[in-house]
Amino acid sequence: MKNNQPFVVGITGGIGSGKSTAAKFFEEFGAPVYNSDIRAKIIQNENPEVKVKITEAFGQEAYNESGLNKPFISKQVFQDNEKLKLLNGIVHPAVFKDFDDWKKMQKSDIVIKEAAILIESGSYKDCDVVISVIVDIEKRISRTIERDGLTKEEVLARVNNQISDEERIAKSDFIIDNNGDLTHLKNEVEQTFIKIKKLI
Ligand code: ATP
Repeated sequence: MKNNQPFVVGITGGIGSGKSTAAKFFEEFGAPVYNSDIRAKIIQNENPEVKVKITEAFGQEAYNESGLNKPFISKQVFQDNEKLKLLNGIVHPAVFKDFDDWKKMQKSDIVIKEAAILIESGSYKDCDVVISVIVDIEKRISRTIERDGLTKEEVLARVNNQISDEERIAKSDFIIDNNGDLTHLKNEVEQTFIKIKKLI
């Protein structure tokens, strides 16, 4: 523990790269995982201050009886980059604080922060090390099609909306190759975990 705070390992990767699966293996090896994408959704739906700010920024239509009106918000942020910045400016600091509160409660020396947009959100800067999970594009596409039932075109649209693996690798301390089977991935995680433990 550094100043009584756990060592933070950020893990990221493109759609269908296997970051959630890799994070689960880290958890099996003893490192608790904070899933930023799941927490961000909960925060947008439940955090009173965030809800007020989003409503002020986007209007009453931002929420309906089932929570955040995602189609309405997505349409606006997709069309207008300033609106995307506005939304991120509300959600990212709230997730940052939520992670910080969670981190303080962990007993482990090492914690994992999993985020699809670890690099884009800038939150990689608050991690002690960053891992990118990398897979050949054809495998990412086929695994995502199988998981989500999307078409190839729909997966490619999402891939093209994200930063490239080259950009992720440039900001990463470790690369986990997930081109093999799950046993291979588990082994990659184990080897990486051994290297990280030597750093703390
Ligand atoms: P997203 O950002 O889209 O949520 P992700 O990076 O978290 O994706 P996962 O959900 O972990 O990716 O993996 C994508 C799919 O590929 C899942 O259905 C998962 O079970 C499968 N998968 C992951 N790694 C492997 C592997 N090595 N062999 C076979 N299937 C795998």
